[in-house]
Amino acid sequence: MNTMRTLFLNPPSFEGFDGGAGSRYQTTREVRSFWYPTWLAQPAAMIPNSKLIDAPADDLSLAEVIQRAKGFELCVIHTSTPSFDSDVKVAKALKDAYPQMLMGFVGAHVAVLPQESLEAAPHLDFVAREEFDYTILEIAQGKPWEDILGMSYRKNGAISHNNDRPLIENMDELPSVINVYKRDLTIENYFNGYLRHPYLSLYTGRGCPARCSFCLWPQTVSGHLYRVRSAQSVINEMARAKEMFPQVKDFFFDDDTFTANLSRAVEIAKGLKKLGITRACNSRANIPYEYLKIFRENGLRLLLVGYESGNQQILNNIKKGVRTDIAKEFTKNCRKLGIDIHGCFILGLPGETKDTIEETMKYACELDVKTIQVSLSAPYPGTELYRQAMANKWYDESALSRSDGTQACTLHYPHLSSSEIEQAVLRFYSRFYARPKPILRILAGMLKDPNERKRRLREGKEFFQYLRNRKTAKSEAPKKDMAAV
Ligand code: SF4
Repeated sequence: MNTMRTLFLNPPSFEGFDGGAGSRYQTTREVRSFWYPTWLAQPAAMIPNSKLIDAPADDLSLAEVIQRAKGFELCVIHTSTPSFDSDVKVAKALKDAYPQMLMGFVGAHVAVLPQESLEAAPHLDFVAREEFDYTILEIAQGKPWEDILGMSYRKNGAISHNNDRPLIENMDELPSVINVYKRDLTIENYFNGYLRHPYLSLYTGRGCPARCSFCLWPQTVSGHLYRVRSAQSVINEMARAKEMFPQVKDFFFDDDTFTANLSRAVEIAKGLKKLGITRACNSRANIPYEYLKIFRENGLRLLLVGYESGNQQILNNIKKGVRTDIAKEFTKNCRKLGIDIHGCFILGLPGETKDTIEETMKYACELDVKTIQVSLSAPYPGTELYRQAMANKWYDESALSRSDGTQACTLHYPHLSSSEIEQAVLRFYSRFYARPKPILRILAGMLKDPNERKRRLREGKEFFQYLRNRKTAKSEAPKKDMAAV
């Protein structure tokens, strides 16, 4: 069957903006970080002659993207709430250059707000809601639009919404994304502060059974049922990935919670042992010791763990479903087994006070994980947190990012202002990293490995630049209509 020449685009945006199809919250981060555009790579793997362009990671300007888009009949852009206005400008520029090109947006923002998105972006022909892989495939195959599930589109000046598309049940039917990575991406352009460089990430399943009120994807696109690929297909893919990308130092399973299905995670771990690859994945802070031990013995190096807060009431408020005493025990067990942890914390969640901020900083220091990330609570449309924030007037719909792409604090409470929450982020980092233990850990790593030395020096420079920018940006009110492009 003939398919349209399809371009999948993670559009140019703020400098260093990790805003694309792989980023859980979209922002310019403390150190140069880019997630793989895996959500776009998936339909790209299903459409012959497609192309995936990741403009921020490849540092491409809008003019360069327009030049590379020549000859494509269909363009699919992954958008997000913080980057939406900027992405609309990219869509307009492409449509101006190539009026015949069909233009569509995908991502959680348009899944939640299809009508509003099409109204706000007159150059858009359609948006694909929910899981969009097959929606885009059917558009590329030329199927009549009124028959395509999960599609909202413009026709004769009116906007139509087709019925929802059910979630994919058999994940094994999706082709591997690594051929697209090999064909279209430069894997050395993907960094983050805790995975060894170069790293490679992919999904082995979608959805998360947990119900955290702030978390975007399970509430909008991927659902609460963890749908997985068979263990054997994951093992086969990893064997191929190792052969295709011998330079990769860490493989990352980016499933929302890879450990949500423990027996399968064990099967995969055991199957991967003979490949001798180091791995990392997302996990909740409640995995029993015996499972951690099996994972460690079979190549697990690092877990990315959402601790969020050190205050139990806040964890209850956000439906985290994890107790701080269990999280402490889990962290102690990981340390004992030699599993590194990148701990994620969020300030400004419902119930936050000056005291709970202090409590969370103390908790993080007590956990003493290898590296941390401190984010600001962000009310994305489609989440329970957004609905709560609107109902309680904690949020006035100001932009989630500043004009330089860094995260803005948008939530505020009668007893705690946005700027108090935002200032606490810097204090948090200083309190955690200016202790002897992390300093010694970083120095030891730098002495042992010249690559680590080079990388930490670069990251240190980027981090201090970020702090300087953040201080300057503090007085600047976040703007809804940003001009990134
Ligand atoms: S456990 Fe993690 S991925 Fe799952 S809903 Fe909570 S924050 Fe989201």
